[in-house]
Amino acid sequence: MDTENGFYNLLSKQVADSGDMAEVYQQTLQELELHTQARMSAVILVHQGFQVSAIKRAGHGVQLFAGESALAKHHDLPATFIKSAAYSKSLDYQINFQAEDDIWQTQYLDIHESLQVAVPIFHEQVVIAVLFLETSTDIDVQAIDEQNIIKMFAQTIGIEFEKRFLTEQAQLALAQSADNAKALHDKVIQSEHFLSLLTELHRVTIELSRSKTLNELFYRSVSLALRHLQIDRMAIFIIDQESNRMFGTFGTNEKGEVVDESYYSSVIPDHPVVQETLRRKDYVIVIEDTALQHDKKEVGRGWNAMVALWDGEQALGWIAVDNLINHRPLELHHKEVLKLYAANLSQLIFRKRQDERLLEFNKQLEQRVLERTAELASANHALENANRALESANAQLERLSMMDGLTGVSNRRFFDSSLNSEWDRALRHHKRLSLLMIDVDKFKEFNDCYGHIEGDKALQQVAMSLVKHARRSGEVVARYGGEEFAILLPHVSDQELTHVVNNVLAGVRELAIPHSASQISEAVTISVGVATLFPDNTLSTNDLIEMADKALYQAKIKGRDQAVFA
Ligand code: GH3
Ligand code: MG
Ligand code: MG
Repeated sequence: MDTENGFYNLLSKQVADSGDMAEVYQQTLQELELHTQARMSAVILVHQGFQVSAIKRAGHGVQLFAGESALAKHHDLPATFIKSAAYSKSLDYQINFQAEDDIWQTQYLDIHESLQVAVPIFHEQVVIAVLFLETSTDIDVQAIDEQNIIKMFAQTIGIEFEKRFLTEQAQLALAQSADNAKALHDKVIQSEHFLSLLTELHRVTIELSRSKTLNELFYRSVSLALRHLQIDRMAIFIIDQESNRMFGTFGTNEKGEVVDESYYSSVIPDHPVVQETLRRKDYVIVIEDTALQHDKKEVGRGWNAMVALWDGEQALGWIAVDNLINHRPLELHHKEVLKLYAANLSQLIFRKRQDERLLEFNKQLEQRVLERTAELASANHALENANRALESANAQLERLSMMDGLTGVSNRRFFDSSLNSEWDRALRHHKRLSLLMIDVDKFKEFNDCYGHIEGDKALQQVAMSLVKHARRSGEVVARYGGEEFAILLPHVSDQELTHVVNNVLAGVRELAIPHSASQISEAVTISVGVATLFPDNTLSTNDLIEMADKALYQAKIKGRDQAVFA
């Protein structure tokens, strides 16, 4: 159908304005006139209601009709006959009678006859035109030769039509294919641009994701877009829906340099473009040929595009872009890249905000932990103080429990445990251990004479004196019981031992505590039993005590106020 339509359009057009086609008609119809003595010949295009395209009358040139020339308007052409030939698709002829005068006087009048022939012209088995001719009756149309001649002319015209049609079609196809090739080429170039922009976009996104802070992310977003994404100027605005305010981040000045615009803050403009941008996801709004601004001053003209940033269903802000510097047109693929950029950036902003919130939360947590730690530390400090107090109380208690309540020297319990540990130590190191057993002489008489209070005082003085004169590291001065004392001396030479013993005896004498009831001396005296052992496994602490006791007994027997060495 398309081919057919194209063909008819072509025919009408060519009949109208092609010199060549006029020539074809001229020659064909001329020849026809010569060969057939045609009085008239014509070509009628079948398409669109039988348009007459050419007529040749005897002795005249070919008359061409451009555009509309309905068959019905040509009264000398037999419309019904021509149409029936077209429909029957075969050559047809009829005799045409022409009476000059009244039909009733036919036999007296000169009647002219003519022969009319109509030949269909085919294109791909479809009748596209009819070749008509009218001759004198001399021609024998029933003769095959004559018919063939007429058919040949019809064919000639048909072929000429066909040739022209094909040429035209070929030219059209050629032109079209050239157009197609160019369109294809353009498309290829565009997709190459798109692809290279996408590659850049990928790299930029990776670099953006390395931003440490939200602020750095905004700065990089603008500067990397200018550098790598064929964008002249970009600004990023962030909004706070609750307060209905917008905030600047980074933008671009009229020279294309990145500038900090974080100072900028205002109510979100109630401008339809802004509102529309924030309403629509994945959509780039473009205003063509508009005033471009920086710092609220017009700096030039060009297109201005905006695309929203999103966090789920909520708008975060928007990116504004224009072509102030290079005046590039906004291609489809630029828009796509912008959309992708906005989507990527939205993701990164969202993530960075989460990070910063987390960081803030951690900071608060850390602060709380610090405070809590401080509280705990002070509680601990208090506890430590309390513990220390308790410890010192306990130590005091311990000391007290090791101490003789009256005299302040070690008590019997401490003496026993000291004796055991010193015994073991001496045993391990093969050192000697010496023990002094001391008993106050005639103390019963002292009490009887001076009373128990004075007796206690005397015991205290004696104890002090013992401590004073036996002072040496490792020694233990203890109250053994009643008016008896013991001094433990680990690892002392005989000489040292003698020295200590003499000092102890002398020390008590020097106290000069009056003892009028004593037969030994005017003052209080003591007797001392001294024993020294190299501890070994055959011996025990009791052996040492017994030795010292026996020596003490000897000292008593010998007259008191003296020492006996076992
Ligand atoms: P000797 O010279 O043989 O040791 O004679 P002594 O009187 O010292 O011996 P004895 O064992 O007969 O008497 C010891 C006395 O020591 C008896 C007791 O009243 C006295 N005494 C013991 N412990 C204390 C004490 O804590 N305070 C007072 N004031 N006297 C005590
Ligand atoms: Mg005694
Ligand atoms: Mg005594």
